[in-house]
Amino acid sequence: MGIHFDLFTLGVIGAAIGIAISISFTLLGLVLRGLPALRIWASAFWVLTVAALAQGLNENGSVLSTIVGSGMIALANALMLMGIAIHLRYPLRWRWPLAVVGLFVACQVCVYLWPPTQTVSALMFGAYSVVWDVWMIWVLLWRSPRDMRNTCGFTALIFAIDAVFYLLRSVVVLFPRLLAHTPLDELLTTWNYLFGILSSFLLSTGFTLMLAERLTLDLRRLARTDGLTGLLNRSALIEAGGRLVEACRARGQACSVLMFDLDHFKSINDGWGHAAGDAVLSHFVGVIRDLGLPDGSLFARYGGEEFALVLPAIQPAHAGLLAERMRAAVAAKPAAFGGRAINITTSVGGATATGADFEHLISAADVALYQAKHQGRNRVAWNPGA
Ligand code: GH3
Ligand code: MG
Ligand code: MG
Repeated sequence: MGIHFDLFTLGVIGAAIGIAISISFTLLGLVLRGLPALRIWASAFWVLTVAALAQGLNENGSVLSTIVGSGMIALANALMLMGIAIHLRYPLRWRWPLAVVGLFVACQVCVYLWPPTQTVSALMFGAYSVVWDVWMIWVLLWRSPRDMRNTCGFTALIFAIDAVFYLLRSVVVLFPRLLAHTPLDELLTTWNYLFGILSSFLLSTGFTLMLAERLTLDLRRLARTDGLTGLLNRSALIEAGGRLVEACRARGQACSVLMFDLDHFKSINDGWGHAAGDAVLSHFVGVIRDLGLPDGSLFARYGGEEFALVLPAIQPAHAGLLAERMRAAVAAKPAAFGGRAINITTSVGGATATGADFEHLISAADVALYQAKHQGRNRVAWNPGA
């Protein structure tokens, strides 16, 4: 603890780091478009930097600059919180964090009009910081999707450290003799500003990690999803279906696959146009989904107007009934396009096996589908040989 920084030096260091973080977030926002949270976080860091500049370089602070400075810190907290909420798609309204900012500024005004003891005002600022920290931690840990818990946990940890810092500081303020002349006392009081700089830097790392994780997850999801129907696409089906069938095989359970192919789909495209064909595909998926897919099943778009349904651990007789129910529902519900109804039917090929691999099951179901087409379409055929 021998190193000593005067307030001005710390102010310069803080300003330099704050400006660097703000610039890097602004530039990141220019490259990664379509991430509203990133823009909000960039503005939070700018506001925080200006506030730190106002406070750090203005040692004896005038009334106005102190109130404006701490108001800006409050605003930066509100922006960070809103950025987190938007990033996690948690519906938080601006009015709540902004109300807390207003309350804090009002408290600061009171502090200057009716000056309380220094203890009270220090405690007030500490309590206020802890409120923000806890609010952010709550959103990060309890309102984040499961697949983003790692990076949210890291960011929450930084807010937790910040909260612990301010709680300890409040203890020092309340009981000045408790830690007097210990390294902890010095750390909590004179290194306050440096701690703020360090935690801003760690926060910017946390936010960057959160963004990277969100982008990776979105890309992975896009690569697995069919853009028109939102179902799994073919390669995702092969990957996930392979795992599912393998798990069934290991447990000695039967696994079924249904292959659907819409009948005379080309004539729908030719007669009604490609857009109508697209609408029919989405409609078909809606009809099948509305029937309720069994737990653990995989429904995927296998190709143009071909769909596959993998049914793990299900009795062959049950799978056959389900296939027939789905075929009948599709035939009974015409698709709507431009105010007119388009009648559609589907042929279904099914196969069940206990020991076969996924590729084998798919091709067995495909053989059955071919039979269903051959027998006149709008029917279910089953391949007993799988
Ligand atoms: P069948 O009863 O024998 O299955 O007759 P079909 O007309 O359905 O035959 P086929 O499977 O050969 O036709 C599939 C058509 O689906 C051909 C292709 O132009 C069309 N298609 C494939 N993907 C899409 C798509 O995403 N949108 C639209 N509108 N059409 C598609
Ligand atoms: Mg077809
Ligand atoms: Mg086809």
